Amino acid sequence: MIKQILFAISLLITLGVFAWTTKRVLAYFRFTKKKPLHNFGKRIMVTLKVAVFQEKILRRPVIGMMHALVWWGFIVIIFGSIEMTIDGLFGTEKVFAFMGPIYDFLMASGDVFGLIIVFAILAFLFRRLFMHIQRFYGPEMKPVSKADANLALTIILVLMLSLLGMNTGYLLWADAVGEHTVGTYPVSYWLAGFFEGMTAESAWLLFQVNWWTHILLIFIFANILPYSKHFHVFMSVPSVFISRLEPLGYVENMESITKEVKLMMDPDAAFAEQPEEEGEPERFGVKDVNDIFWTNYLNALSCTECGRCTSVCPANITGKLLSPRKIMMDTRARMKEKGPGLVKEGAAFDDGKSLLQTWITEEELWACTQCNACAMECPVNINQPSLILDMRRYLVMEESKAPSGLNTVFANIENNGAPWQFSPEDRMLWAEGLEVPLMADKLAKGENPEYLFWVSSAGAFDDRYKKVTREFVKILNHLGIDYAVLGTEETDSGDIARRAGNEMLFQMQAMMNIEILNGYEVKKIITCDPHDFNTLKNEYPDFDGNYEVLHHSQFLQQMIDGGKIKLDSDILSGKKITFHDPCYLGRANGEYKAPRTVLDAIPSVKIEMERNKSFALCCGAGGGQMFKEAEKGDKEVFIERTEEALKTGCDIIATACPFCMVMMTDGLKYTNKEEEVKNYDIAELVSMGLGL
Ligand code: SF4
Ligand code: SF4
Repeated sequence: MIKQILFAISLLITLGVFAWTTKRVLAYFRFTKKKPLHNFGKRIMVTLKVAVFQEKILRRPVIGMMHALVWWGFIVIIFGSIEMTIDGLFGTEKVFAFMGPIYDFLMASGDVFGLIIVFAILAFLFRRLFMHIQRFYGPEMKPVSKADANLALTIILVLMLSLLGMNTGYLLWADAVGEHTVGTYPVSYWLAGFFEGMTAESAWLLFQVNWWTHILLIFIFANILPYSKHFHVFMSVPSVFISRLEPLGYVENMESITKEVKLMMDPDAAFAEQPEEEGEPERFGVKDVNDIFWTNYLNALSCTECGRCTSVCPANITGKLLSPRKIMMDTRARMKEKGPGLVKEGAAFDDGKSLLQTWITEEELWACTQCNACAMECPVNINQPSLILDMRRYLVMEESKAPSGLNTVFANIENNGAPWQFSPEDRMLWAEGLEVPLMADKLAKGENPEYLFWVSSAGAFDDRYKKVTREFVKILNHLGIDYAVLGTEETDSGDIARRAGNEMLFQMQAMMNIEILNGYEVKKIITCDPHDFNTLKNEYPDFDGNYEVLHHSQFLQQMIDGGKIKLDSDILSGKKITFHDPCYLGRANGEYKAPRTVLDAIPSVKIEMERNKSFALCCGAGGGQMFKEAEKGDKEVFIERTEEALKTGCDIIATACPFCMVMMTDGLKYTNKEEEVKNYDIAELVSMGLGL
C-alpha cells in the first residue's frame, strides 16, 4: 500500500509538471501564423517512412542503424513502462501477462533492445566525448547544448541498465523462492547466471531498487525533455506528420502577393475577385517569431541539434557563417525569449529585439544557395530553406535590402526580362544560322507543335550556355521533333527573383509567361535549365500554368530508351567522365537516373564523385549566389566542388545546368586545369556522339 501511495504521488507530480510545461510551450503557437493541413493519407505514409522506419536517418547506414535501434527500442520499451505504471498504481504484478505469447515476445524484445541501447548509447557518448566529430561543433553549440546532450544520453543509459537490473533481479528472486516467472528475458537470464546463489532478499532488493530507479527516471526525464534538445522524442513524430509533402524544389506561394500582382496586372478583375479586406496589412516574409507558421515552430521544437543539416551545407562547409541548425535553434530560442511577453501582453508585445537581426544576421541568410541539402538530410523532415527564404522575403520586400548584385538582377529582369542587361529583342541571337521554329509562325500556319522548347534566360544570353542551346536544337532537328520556341516572347521565369526573396517580381514574371504559354495552348515543355524546369513544373501550377515539363536529360533518356538516339561513335571512348548533379534536377526533383542513362549510352568511362546523387554538393550558384559577391569564408563553394570532381581523375566534368556550367568552368580556370579537363553539358556530349 505504501508503495502504491508513493507511486501515485510521484505520478501526480510528474503529470502536473508536464502538463504545466506543455501548456506553456503550446501557448506560443497562438502567436504564429495559421496554415491548413491537407492530404492526411499521404502524411500518414510519410510519418511511417520517416518517423517509424527512420528512412532518412538510415541514409548513413552505420550510425543511422544505431540511432534507429535506439528509437525502435524505445517504442518497444514503452509497453513495459505502461505496465509498470499500472502495476505501481494498482498494486498488481505484471498486469499484461494475460497476453501470453505476445507478452513474452514484447518482454523479450524490450530486454534485448535494452542491451542494444546500452551499447549504442556508450558508442554515442564515446563519439561525443572523445572523437572530434565536426557536426557536434559550431558556434551555436554552446557548452549547455553539449551538456544537455550528454545528460540525456546518460539518463537513457541508466534507464536501460535499470531495466536490465530489474529483469535480472526478478529472475533471481523467482528462482530463489521457486516462483514461476512470466515473460521471457533472454539477456537478463544470461546476466542472472553471473549472480547464481543470490538470496531471495537480495534479489528482491535488486528488483525493487531497479524498478524504482527506472520508473522515477522516466518521470524525471519526461519533465526534463521539454527544456532539452531531446524534446524531439515527443515532437519528432508530429513534426514529420506536418512536414511539407511537395518536392524539395517547390517554394510555397504567397497569396498576399498574388493579390497585389493581380491587382497591378488587371485591377478590374482583381477587384471583382477579392472583396476589400479590413485590418492590418499582412507583413511580407518573416522578421520575428510572430511571422512564422505554426509548422515552423513545431519544426523548431523537434530539432534534435544533430547537425546533419549543417554538415552538408555548402556555405558552412566552406567556412561561411550560415548553419541551418542554428536557424532552427535560434527560432526556438527566440520564441522562448519572446513567448512569455506575448502570452502576457498579447500579439502587440515588442521587446525591441527580433529573430532576424538580433538572432540571425543578414550575412547568414544571403550565404544560402537554396540547394536543399539540409532539408534532404534532416531526420525529422525540417525544411530550413523555406524559413531562410521567408526572411529574405522580408528583407527584400519590406526593407528593400538585398546585396547590390541582386538588386541589379531584379532591375534587369524587370526592365529586360533577363538577369543580365541585354535587350529582350536579342533573345534569339543564339540561334543565328540555325533553323529554329517560332510558336508565332506555327500558330499563323494553324499548327500546334508537340513541344515548346523553353530556352531560358541563361540559354539565350549566357555565352557558354548559348552553345549548349544550339547543340540541343541540333539534336531536336536531327530527330525531327515537332517543336517551337517563344523567341522574343519568352521572358525570365522569375526563378532567381523568387529564391532571392523578390516574390513580387517572380509572380509578375510567372503570370506574364503563363498568359503567353496558355495563349499558345502549350501542353509539353522541354528545357535545359533545371531551375526553370523546377519552376515551370512545380510552381507555375499555382498560377494556372499546368504543363508536362521535361528536363533535357529526361527527354534525351526517352530518345535513347526508345532507340531514336544511338551513340556508337568512339569520339569519347577512353575519356573519364564524372557527372555533377544539379541541385534542382537531383535533390529538388529526385531525377538522378536520366542524366546517368544519357552518359552511360556514350562509349566512355564513368566515375562518380564522392558526394553524388542526393548527397551531391551544390556548385554554389543557386539561390541567386551567382549574381552576388560570396559571403566571407575559407573558400568559394565552386572551388570545393571542382576540387572534388578533379579528385576522380576525370577528363570531362559533365553538367546539365547553365549555372553549374558557369561555376565548374570557373572552378577549372581557378585550379588551372582548364587545358586538361573540359566541362561539357550532356547535350553537347550527345551531339558529339551523334557527329552533329
Ligand atoms: S539550402 Fe543549402 S546552402 Fe541553404 S542552408 Fe540548406 S544546405 Fe545550406
Ligand atoms: S534541423 Fe534537422 S538536421 Fe538540422 S540539426 Fe535540427 S534535426 Fe538535425
